Amino acid sequence: MTDDLFRNDAYARDCTAAVTAVRDAALVLDRTVFYPMGGGQPGDTGRIEWDGQSVSVVDTRYGEAGEILHLLGPDPVMPAVGQEVRAVIDWDRRHRHMRMHTALHLLGAVLPYGVTGGNISAAKSRLDFDMEDTVDKAAAQAALDALVAADHPVRCRWISDEELDRQPELVRTMSVQPPRGQGRVRLLEIEGVDLQPCGGTHLASTGEVGQVRIGKVEKKGRRNRRVNIHLDD
Ligand SMILES: [Zn+2]
Repeated sequence: MTDDLFRNDAYARDCTAAVTAVRDAALVLDRTVFYPMGGGQPGDTGRIEWDGQSVSVVDTRYGEAGEILHLLGPDPVMPAVGQEVRAVIDWDRRHRHMRMHTALHLLGAVLPYGVTGGNISAAKSRLDFDMEDTVDKAAAQAALDALVAADHPVRCRWISDEELDRQPELVRTMSVQPPRGQGRVRLLEIEGVDLQPCGGTHLASTGEVGQVRIGKVEKKGRRNRRVNIHLDD
């Protein structure tokens, strides 16, 4: 099980760690700042350094039993198991993922329909909504801009299944039913805007999203509207 430092601090760009396993072309560390692909958010890229050597990480994925695999480029020089290393993410790319991810939470608040899918990349992201109506793009853009401008605080908190059971009103404010049975649930809260279970990396406040533009709205079936967003900077 890799200690997932990005869970408590999305702004951590690097960390020291020890190599716990070497796979074909992947490294497992005891702790990491690399986010593994999941929840529509891509895995981080970056590099792992030790003793004046370094390898590039081309993707990050979950392996078995909570292990996080740092997938390496071709013909990497492998550090030995036990080696102390420094893991450094490509921060510019990750920060764009955080802006996009946070912007999608805002989009989900602007368009109050069921979300059936989504995907994040550094330049373009999307959410699929279970809706038949047409999207008023100008109104949605204005509402999105207002949520960014209001600079709402964003925070994560853990809640136990029992606390959740004691506060059924909490669930009604969520767009997604939280997964039960693991003892606790990680909630993402944008104060007064959104509350839902989420394991991704987010910004500290909505103002940091910056300029986000609603692009094409695609009709993907009678009850499915795909809304694309872009970061133009
Ligand atoms: Zn999220």
